[in-house]
Amino acid sequence: MITNLVKANIKNLQPYNPKEVPCSIKLDANENNNVSHLLNQKISKAILELKINQYPDSNSTEIRKLLSEKLSVSKDQVVVGCGSDQLIFMVLNAFINVGDKILTPSPTFSMYKISNEVVGGETVEVDLDDGFRFNYNKFMMAIKKENPKVIFLSNPNNPTGGIIPREEIIKIVELSNAVVVVDEAYYEFYQNSVVDLVNYYPNLIVLRTLSKAYGLAGARVGYSIASREATAILNKVKPPYNVSSLDQTAAKVCLENNQMIESIITEIVNERIVISNELNKIKDLKVYESYGNFLLIYTEKARDLYQYLISEEILIRYFGDKGDLAGCLRVSIGTKEENARLLYIIKKYFFCKEEQLPLKMAE
Ligand SMILES: *Cc1c(COP(=O)(O)O)cnc(C)c1O
Repeated sequence: MITNLVKANIKNLQPYNPKEVPCSIKLDANENNNVSHLLNQKISKAILELKINQYPDSNSTEIRKLLSEKLSVSKDQVVVGCGSDQLIFMVLNAFINVGDKILTPSPTFSMYKISNEVVGGETVEVDLDDGFRFNYNKFMMAIKKENPKVIFLSNPNNPTGGIIPREEIIKIVELSNAVVVVDEAYYEFYQNSVVDLVNYYPNLIVLRTLSKAYGLAGARVGYSIASREATAILNKVKPPYNVSSLDQTAAKVCLENNQMIESIITEIVNERIVISNELNKIKDLKVYESYGNFLLIYTEKARDLYQYLISEEILIRYFGDKGDLAGCLRVSIGTKEENARLLYIIKKYFFCKEEQLPLKMAE
């Protein structure tokens, strides 16, 4: 039967099913809820000009041009993918044979491991320290012991919000024999990058996305910046026409209006600091330091709080009660109004679930 034909490494795979609980306030996926409606109008207008009967530009030339100018690299150092998820897959397809190892800190973005399982690679995880801090010495020892072919570093790290110092990334790139992928999905909120190093290190691949800061998660556009050598390899495994012309148009409009996005990013970072301070005042909560557009929170009441928030129409991310993220919740920074509502409901949960809070806190 068909199940006997399935590849061994696919047999026990669980499909990746993001939790879709409909709520009016969505703070579960690190999306940008602040992008103005203006962008939608501009995108719609641009789409009117589109020749939708034709295949898209397979190499996303215009987007690569805009990005390469912005990043001061050459156009042939950029690959555009159907989300950076596709670029993660392309890296694995290009470098990982069945049984080959990748190395990642843990916890981190789950797609590295999931995609690696599909190609049949082995994922070796190095636990972050207490407080989810990156331990450089421990990670270096694992590199020496495991000799991985690919290393994934999410910087800032999803879902912890923590970072790896630039000097430590450089040493990892220099001292390992691996392809080092630095996933800068949250770069815009952190402002530190290793993109400037791609011309010095042929084994460095930087990933970025328009899904987070740029508020374009629905369009699925991510990109890589790397040496010409590495980029040529990625292009060999890039599926043709991998980004639809609708998505390319949206991305173009978005990149051309990045001024609008920049002020929104500042706003989100400021809000993150405010919310973090407010949540830290609650004794039963621990808030981890974050450099992204989200906060990771630990509480013994994680499941209950998560359910309570859903009952109040607020969806956040709950990581379950097992594993290294047990009791952890991740909240995205939303609009000012959404954040105020979130704080109000969390305070209500901890302080006076039964009683009424002062009315002025409500709105
Ligand atoms: C969200 C996220 C991505 C995926 O981005 P897409 O471009 O939407 O595929 C990649 N890496 C990290 C660390 C993320 O948090």
